Order: sequence, then C-alpha cells, then structure tokens
Amino acid sequence: MARRKKIYEGKAKILYEGPEPGTLVQYFKDDATAYNAQKKDVIDGKGVLNNRLSEFFMTGLNAIGVPTHFIRRLNMREQLVRSCEIIPLEVIVRNFAAGSMSERLGIEEGTALPRPIVEYCYKDDKLGDPLVTEEHIAAFGWASQQDMDDILSLALRVNDYLSGLMYGVGIRLVDFKIEIGRVYEGDYQRLVVADEISPDSCRLWDIETGQKLDKDVFRRDLGNLTDAYTEVAQRLGVIQKGAMPITKPTLIN
Ligand code: C5P
Repeated sequence: MARRKKIYEGKAKILYEGPEPGTLVQYFKDDATAYNAQKKDVIDGKGVLNNRLSEFFMTGLNAIGVPTHFIRRLNMREQLVRSCEIIPLEVIVRNFAAGSMSERLGIEEGTALPRPIVEYCYKDDKLGDPLVTEEHIAAFGWASQQDMDDILSLALRVNDYLSGLMYGVGIRLVDFKIEIGRVYEGDYQRLVVADEISPDSCRLWDIETGQKLDKDVFRRDLGNLTDAYTEVAQRLGVIQKGAMPITKPTLIN
C-alpha cells in the first residue's frame, strides 16, 4: 500500500494530497490546543464531530451561494476539499463581546455589540496571531482592496447564515473565526471559505442557560468537550440523539 503525501500538519488537522489535481484530503485530529498550544490534550471523538459539523455548515453555505472549499465528506474523519492558497488572516466576526475582545477593551462578556464587528489577525503562531488593521493588510500585500471587500462580504454572509441556524436550535452565535482561500480558475481567482467551521472556531452559548457549547469548555476547564460538541451536533440534527459515543478511528472509519 502506498503512503499518501502529507502536505501540511496543523494543530487540529492534517492535509494530504487529494485523489485529483486541485484537491486535498482534510483529516480532523482529536488534538485540542488553546492559548497558542500552551494547553494541549487529546479529546476522543472531537475530530469526528468537527468533521461532521464542518461538513454540515459548509454544505449549507455552498447551497446558499457562499463559496467554500468543501467538496464532500469521505469518512468519519476526512473530507475532500479544493486546494487553495490560504490568505494569512484569521477573520473574526463578533456579535457579542467575549474572549480577547472583552479583555482588550474591558467589555463584559456577553454584552451585545451594536453591530457585528469584524477583526483581522495575522496568521502566525510564533507571534500569537496578532490583531492587525486593513492598513497592515494593504501595506504588507496580504490581500488587495478587492479581496478585502470580498472577505468582508463573505464573513457577514457566514455570520447571518450561522446566527440564524444556531438561533433556530436555541444557541447564540457569540463569535467565530473563518479562514479564506484563493482558488484559481483559468485567468480568474475567487475567494472561498476554507479550513473548518466547528465549535473549535466559534463561541456558542445556550440562549436560555448561557451554557458554553464550544472550545471554551476546554480552554477554561468547564467540563466535557465532546459532550458539548455532541449537544450542538444533536440539536442541529447532524447526529441522532442516543447515537453511540464517537471514539477513536478504526481501520474502516
Ligand atoms: O480568542 P478570541 O476571543 O479572539 O476568539 C474569537 C473567536 O475566534 C472565537 O470563537 C475563537 O474560538 C476563534 N478563534 C479561533 N482560532 C484562533 C483564534 C480565535 O478559532 N486562533
């Protein structure tokens, strides 16, 4: 059996060469990291849940005309995606104050923001993904003005879609992060939502109780992370209530 070519290994995912040119296989690991990998653990089943949840969100976005890199899910931990050139920015959209914004600006967590606020961080683990402005982005050539217009529009469309979906199952979308990739089609380039959308990259709070159903459960030691992600997946109908607990991959996963 031939070993497939690993293209990149990140903190939570591995990218392998795909079966056709222009494709990659995205593998979801169980590794959880926080605070720029200062806190680490392996959470059985997290990768399986994130693979399913990211498939669900990306499929919905594709269906409403928001382009993503997602092609199809392959198995419990892998999905086929379009290969793209990742713009080195983390695009964060916030509806309520939380996390680093609350710390930075002294705004109490949970405060409703007057409108969605979009922030950009420069993707560099060594620097701890620092917040940057559009001035930095333009001056250092990370994205053009046209790209920035498209990125803002994609980010707000994803926010509307995800907020509505979550509201329908009693969950508040506090904030989230997306990454954007460039896909080349002949002489044209197009921007697509890439990477993943999952409770690893969103803040999700139960609307009634305020219970956290996202990676803050791990970051802040608030309980069992897979239980929280399973709750999100069950409410969205991505997995059935009473389904077998999701654990380690098997040979035929
Ligand atoms: O930490 P902060 O408050 O800036 O995070 C904002 C949102 O972006 C959160 O939903 C968090 O999960 C997400 N995020 C992420 N990856 C990072 C930084 C933030 O998914 N490297």
